Amino acid sequence: CGVFGTIGVTDAANFVALGLHALQHRGQEAGGIITYAPESGFNSAHRFGLVRDSFTSTKVMETLPGTIGIGHVRYSTAGTKGSTSIRDVQPFFGEFAMGGAAIAHNGNITNAGTVRRELIERGSIFQSSSDSECIIHLMARSYQTTIAERLKDALRRVEGAFSIVAMTRTKLIGVRDPLGVRPLVLGRLGEGWVLASETCALDIIGAEFVREIEPGEMVVIGAEGVTSTHPFQSRGSRFCIFEQVYFSRPDSSLGGRSVYETRRQIGVELAREAPVEADLVCPVPDSGTPAAIGYSQESGIPYAMGIVRNQYMGRTFIEPSEQIRNMGVRLKLNVNRALVAGKRVVLVDDSVVRGTTSLKIKQMILEAGASEVHFRIASPPTMWPCFYGVDTPERSKLLAARMTEEEMRDYIGVESLKFVSLDGLYRAAGEAEGRSNSCPQFCDACFSGEYPIVPSDMVKRGFTL
Ligand code: SF4
Ligand code: MG
Repeated sequence: CGVFGTIGVTDAANFVALGLHALQHRGQEAGGIITYAPESGFNSAHRFGLVRDSFTSTKVMETLPGTIGIGHVRYSTAGTKGSTSIRDVQPFFGEFAMGGAAIAHNGNITNAGTVRRELIERGSIFQSSSDSECIIHLMARSYQTTIAERLKDALRRVEGAFSIVAMTRTKLIGVRDPLGVRPLVLGRLGEGWVLASETCALDIIGAEFVREIEPGEMVVIGAEGVTSTHPFQSRGSRFCIFEQVYFSRPDSSLGGRSVYETRRQIGVELAREAPVEADLVCPVPDSGTPAAIGYSQESGIPYAMGIVRNQYMGRTFIEPSEQIRNMGVRLKLNVNRALVAGKRVVLVDDSVVRGTTSLKIKQMILEAGASEVHFRIASPPTMWPCFYGVDTPERSKLLAARMTEEEMRDYIGVESLKFVSLDGLYRAAGEAEGRSNSCPQFCDACFSGEYPIVPSDMVKRGFTL
């Protein structure tokens, strides 16, 4: 998901809509905006579909006045998939003794099932099936006297990954979980302030990047400026390495490093670890493009657009239904026949999850007359599900959990298939020594199976670590 908030600007909702539009790659299912204006109180709009379709008409935007606002774009992860109702669309709103508050959450609460059951037993009435809603109910039960303190209280009771943007009538609040699994940045816009999942959402509105919110940090922004506290015990950062590989936009920067550069460097690592003789390096666009550029630069094999993407399709993976996802590959990608016929092609993609994309693309490229296909993947084999806000399927659906590399090569039917090593990925992400196995610098659970936060709901349901 993507979150965005701003305070101290005229017509906050317009900035929120623009910011969400820049974060659309983080969730395309639905979006929502809440603002506050003294004359009308809290105002909200929640819609299915894309920001550009939902939050551009003056009819909608006029209903969202105010100088403070937050928003969310939704990407449904396990549990709520396929069954999304408009009530699952964030931001969520709650009315407390000291006034209303709204929150938008990116990540996943890993003990939400347990917390929810306890809350329901004690009388909470849930409106949605979202894991994020328990935060509002925990806030309602807190004895603290300010919204920010109540939010801290609530977040101390949940486990998991959260980058949250919240608002009251007068304050904008940003907070990241103790490990900082999901991104959140602070920006300055004239006299106002901005919080956003990624820096690309600052760029679109011309806001200046100030800094990242730190793992375990809460910032409260009001008329008197930014107040920072660290309400949780610090445990060192475990940022999601898959944000580097796929999830974030390449024009964003993470940890002071351009995401594009990290991805290009993964391609360089791949070319060193898994060289091959070939005529062309072609990305599976768009997610494989920066790594393909790096592979081409390092190997000296010419880069070419052997596959062309229809820009009017979204991200295949994020399409919740399996059937549409299967069709999706062909609807979205087409082979550039004239280019690949008779050529030995290195295909570069960011990840193999179920294997659907790779299998289809291999078929298409062979039909187009390529003489050899070599697959290079800009992440290690995805062997474990993510419980922290990225929608990897259960283990039984993950190709790499069922097959060895050689079996995958055989199944996909290519001349060679190689994944970048975990150390190669860490080097590309700026860790010269590779992965520190005693205290890894990132979360890489989907590749390593080492979960930095125990996914306790899943463990209760029989998931074995
Ligand atoms: Fe990111 Fe993978 Fe960790 Fe999920 S399990 S937070 S996708 S690195
Ligand atoms: Mg892709």
